[in-house]
Amino acid sequence: MSGIDLTFWGAAGQVTGSCHLLNVRGTQVALDAGLFQGRRDESRRLNEEVPFDPRQLSALVLSHAHIDHAGRIPLLVARQFDRTIHATPATRDLCAVMLADSAHIQESDFRWLQKKGRAGPNSAPLYTSKDAVRTQELMHAHPYGKSFRVADHIDATFHDAGHILGSASVEVQVSGPTPHRLVFSGDIGRWNQPIIRDPRAPRGPVDTLIIESTYARKQHPTIVDASGLLGELVRRVYDRGGKIIVPAFAVGRTQELVYALHQLAKDGAIPEIPIFIDSPLAVEATSVFRMHPEVFDTTEDLIASRASIFDHHLVRYTRDVSESKKLNTMAGPAIIISASGMAEAGRILHHLLNHAGDPKNCILIVGFQAEHTLGRRIHDGRKEVRVLGEDVTVRAEVASIEGYSAHAGRDELRQWVRDLGGPVRRAFCVHGEPESLAAMKLLLEEEGVEQVHVPAHGERVELT
Ligand SMILES: [Zn+2]
Ligand SMILES: [Zn+2]
Repeated sequence: MSGIDLTFWGAAGQVTGSCHLLNVRGTQVALDAGLFQGRRDESRRLNEEVPFDPRQLSALVLSHAHIDHAGRIPLLVARQFDRTIHATPATRDLCAVMLADSAHIQESDFRWLQKKGRAGPNSAPLYTSKDAVRTQELMHAHPYGKSFRVADHIDATFHDAGHILGSASVEVQVSGPTPHRLVFSGDIGRWNQPIIRDPRAPRGPVDTLIIESTYARKQHPTIVDASGLLGELVRRVYDRGGKIIVPAFAVGRTQELVYALHQLAKDGAIPEIPIFIDSPLAVEATSVFRMHPEVFDTTEDLIASRASIFDHHLVRYTRDVSESKKLNTMAGPAIIISASGMAEAGRILHHLLNHAGDPKNCILIVGFQAEHTLGRRIHDGRKEVRVLGEDVTVRAEVASIEGYSAHAGRDELRQWVRDLGGPVRRAFCVHGEPESLAAMKLLLEEEGVEQVHVPAHGERVELT
């Protein structure tokens, strides 16, 4: 008996809600505490019922700032978790804007429902802005490659996961009578992604691996192809005098698009077309990017040659609602990038309402669109959609460019596993739909991992 065990309390048998509980002889450490997303009632229940006592945690180690990994931390804080949250400096700063935004949306949705007399027992915010601020007070930042103490007999090191700014794979070293080396992949990114560096697997023998499986079944087009397609599309829509409306995630995707457009403009591959970043969260997240050049990929020539990659004479950042509204009546070609990424909420809805009906325009899909979202319906070619309570006929061109995924595809996941150097004694596949989890299990077995398991939600496994 090693006295070490793991319980899978999120992203087990599904993608969202990432949370794994490591127990070392009674000392408990959480790896991530993400929000469950998807069907409203089910995710509400999963988010609300924290299945362990947050006060018993000795620490929390956070892989990255995406809401499906960090979005439940303020709830733990609201329930008296008051120990250290370990993260990279960029993750800490992205959390400051993202968790505040998450709390703010919940609070304002609730106020709106109350005003309409429609607030039910399930519509109260999971946490408040105050909880999000308190969360920041508990954050402690560590750069990549520097080991830090998590609790007695437990040390950890962050390694660049190449997924979003600040994203990390976590190497956990348990010392004492039964030493154990555990690697938690976090979300694994892609090679040659703009701005950030390539994924770097923590090298060496692994006793236990927890690995994400999002795209274990799928190969992505390359990022170079994506940029070529983007240039072609911009030229085409510009020539007919139309606008390009892009629903994009405020963190990561928006900055990558700005970067790609900046590079295309610099190369003379696109005409002089105004580019509007119309999302307050994207504007704030971009400031966080500006604060963290230490994690940029300096082998990219745009980064090597210029100090400020997000500023370009064509790019404008709009904050005010009035500025945003002016875009509705502006004449001539333009690119409008706005959130939310799946067109579920936010300013993108106004842009779709105003522009989807004109065949000169183009709605460009660049990110994953979950089932039952407006983005998915448009992507699937529905002509009649409802936007902000109005019926809209989609006459604009609908285009999609797939190469901008922030997740490793099948071959990249395999590369990452090989880069560990191994051997890997035991692996758990998490963060995937059931078919992807099965594909990841197979991939790991092909790579010689002795025991591979797909844990169920709430399953506890003794690590020997
Ligand atoms: Zn992620
Ligand atoms: Zn994720």
